[in-house]
Amino acid sequence: MIAEVIIDSNVKTLNKTFDYLVPHELEKDAKVGTRVFVPFGSLKNLKEGYIVGFKEKSEYDLKEIAKFEKGIIPKSRVELALLMARRYFCNVSDCMKLMLPPGAIHNRVKEKVGQFIYLKKDIEDIEEDIAEKVIKSPKQIRCLQMLYENEGIHILDLEALADVDRVVVKTLEKKEYIEIVEQRIERNPFEFKEVERDQKRKLTYEQQVAYDTVVKSIDEKRFEQFLLYGVTGSGKTEIYLQLIERVLEQGKKAMMLVPEISLTPQMVDRFLARFGDCISVLHSKLSIGERFDQWEKIKEGKAKIIIGARSSIFAPVENLGIILIDEEHDTSYKSDMTPRYNAKDIAFYLAKQNKVPLVLGSATPDINTFSKAKQGKITLLTLKHRANNSNLPTVHIVDLRNELASGNKSMISNLLHKKIEENLKNKKQTILFLNRRGYSTFVMCRNCGFTAKCNNCNVTLTYHKDENKLKCHLCGFETHNITQCPVCKSKNVRYFGSGTQKLEDEIKKLFPTASTIRMDIDTVTKKNSHEMILNKFKDENIDILIGTQMVVKGHHFPNVTLVGVIAADSSLSIEDYRASERTFQILTQVAGRAGRENLPGEVIIQTYNPDHFSIEYAKEQNYDLFYKAEISLRQRLKYPPFCDIILIGLSGKDEKNVKKASEKLEYLLLKQKATNMYISRAIPSPINKIKNRFRFRIILKCNFNNSVINNINAVLEEYYKRNKNNVSIFVDVNPGNMM
Ligand code: ADP
Ligand code: ZN
Ligand code: ZN
Repeated sequence: MIAEVIIDSNVKTLNKTFDYLVPHELEKDAKVGTRVFVPFGSLKNLKEGYIVGFKEKSEYDLKEIAKFEKGIIPKSRVELALLMARRYFCNVSDCMKLMLPPGAIHNRVKEKVGQFIYLKKDIEDIEEDIAEKVIKSPKQIRCLQMLYENEGIHILDLEALADVDRVVVKTLEKKEYIEIVEQRIERNPFEFKEVERDQKRKLTYEQQVAYDTVVKSIDEKRFEQFLLYGVTGSGKTEIYLQLIERVLEQGKKAMMLVPEISLTPQMVDRFLARFGDCISVLHSKLSIGERFDQWEKIKEGKAKIIIGARSSIFAPVENLGIILIDEEHDTSYKSDMTPRYNAKDIAFYLAKQNKVPLVLGSATPDINTFSKAKQGKITLLTLKHRANNSNLPTVHIVDLRNELASGNKSMISNLLHKKIEENLKNKKQTILFLNRRGYSTFVMCRNCGFTAKCNNCNVTLTYHKDENKLKCHLCGFETHNITQCPVCKSKNVRYFGSGTQKLEDEIKKLFPTASTIRMDIDTVTKKNSHEMILNKFKDENIDILIGTQMVVKGHHFPNVTLVGVIAADSSLSIEDYRASERTFQILTQVAGRAGRENLPGEVIIQTYNPDHFSIEYAKEQNYDLFYKAEISLRQRLKYPPFCDIILIGLSGKDEKNVKKASEKLEYLLLKQKATNMYISRAIPSPINKIKNRFRFRIILKCNFNNSVINNINAVLEEYYKRNKNNVSIFVDVNPGNMM
């Protein structure tokens, strides 16, 4: 028997199958999806790989598979990995990894505090050090690779997985590749948790119509895609719960994706209260052992409902009955690392394969999704009313140009000031939203125009007042604050652009008696999770919560009646064709935090662009009008959904090499051009240097289909055949981020 084996490697030229003989005595264990160890080339060590097929004959002189590993990837997932590799232009083994349980567990850790390991250098730098033989020890290399896939892993787990001793880990720490952090071991969030059982609600008329439509597809065992479009509080989650109940009654399983940030205990509690502990929650806070346990629970069929963020779509669920994606417009469903997949596409594939419904839910659907619904490619289910009859909040727009003209230079407009004061008096809570962290977003010399920039990236540094440092938000570089211009020595150095730290300072000055709490990446640390901050805000009835977009999603605060958006323009100014869409979504969502129960809510949006349609329609909370305006712009400018955008990014340490490589690739693309494809010139990316790597890009606009996939794969193959250099290339289809 001859097995076709994919070698576990991200080297592009190894992205093909290699033939191996299956030893006679092991033939019964050899299946598609089995992990194996094989001798490879002149290498001394065995290489890991996966069987992806079998054949009768081979033209080569074959070696034998040396060893079989425990664990097997289901055949259907192997097929998925093969498809993904072609569609997302990466190695099959990159995709196979997504299908595996996140590591075997050997030593179950019982103590309360443990040592957890994090990478201290960037993976690109580590890879380069490996390539240039700065690190040679296979044990150290194994350790680093294991860490790259499982950052934050417990030291014992790492040693077991990489099969190394403590010495190896300690050496890597000494060489500053990794750091060892003492952390509390978090328990599975719902283990031993008592939740009061909750009964299902009688559905409203609108809910019932939506429910019945999806149930038809469940009962008829037929694939259909639905968009459940309803304002926040319209009872979408209640529908999800009842659909899941239906699926469970038929002995099937349900899979539900949510944005990582929505995986709060509040959300999980609702599922626990309805279904008890037959659910499995997969999120990044679980230790590797816990994640492995969850994976096993799913594989053994003990978990009937799987809830998780993006990568849970690959959990080994059998007998699937429905897939639900909540907040389907959320950008976290698109991966921005290899493999650069979109979980919505994977869900579509799996739902179709299993002949089950796929339900996408949102109050502000992705423009592409809504456009498909309008064309009848997705069945549209609309909920127009809030389920508990609470009213949508009243929204006021404040024109910041008038504030400036009237002499108010503070970040808080007169109206917002007045409303906060009232709220404090009435003992109601307020949320203030500003999508920039730090104190000031840039520092400039008024005399010569010098701005402080990162040493490693081509971006300005943000001033952080609490540490009195300038920091790069891309690479973490930090340096002392400056009071004198390093170029012209002038002392006329000024700070511009306000962040959440400055906002908190101002609020404390304006309202000295108010209690405040701040939530952004700087306050949300490994020890201090965003749940803890939100719980504190709620339980201790803190007056004002100040935060970045982390405060926007999915939380339910009965006592919040006022939401202030400090600068609605920050998302409008991003260089992305989705700037308006993002602005509308974020404003609508943040507005949805006010007045969730009986109390009426008010929202104040401060902006320099009060006439911009995304702000006007967000004020009215009218998605339909927003959609109409946006879709006609997209059509005129030929942006998705009227085409697909494919971004080819190149990066490397030597600027000239990257430029040359990008020009070669551009040439090959033009030479083998697919029909109806627009190909941009190869030019530097908007941020042309990150972490000391220079970046170039080529943008393709086309209708992304099979012939385009073949075309790009052929171009890449040709490129890799001819070029061996230190420039890395990625291809991102409809990327989440264009920078
Ligand atoms: P969404 O997911 O659209 O934001 P939810 O399902 O969370 O909406 O519903 C909002 C609130 O209304 C929740 O407190 C929920 O318990 C309640 N609710 C939902 N459906 C009903 C119903 N049919 N009858 C009574 N209350 C409901
Ligand atoms: Zn100067
Ligand atoms: Zn930087």
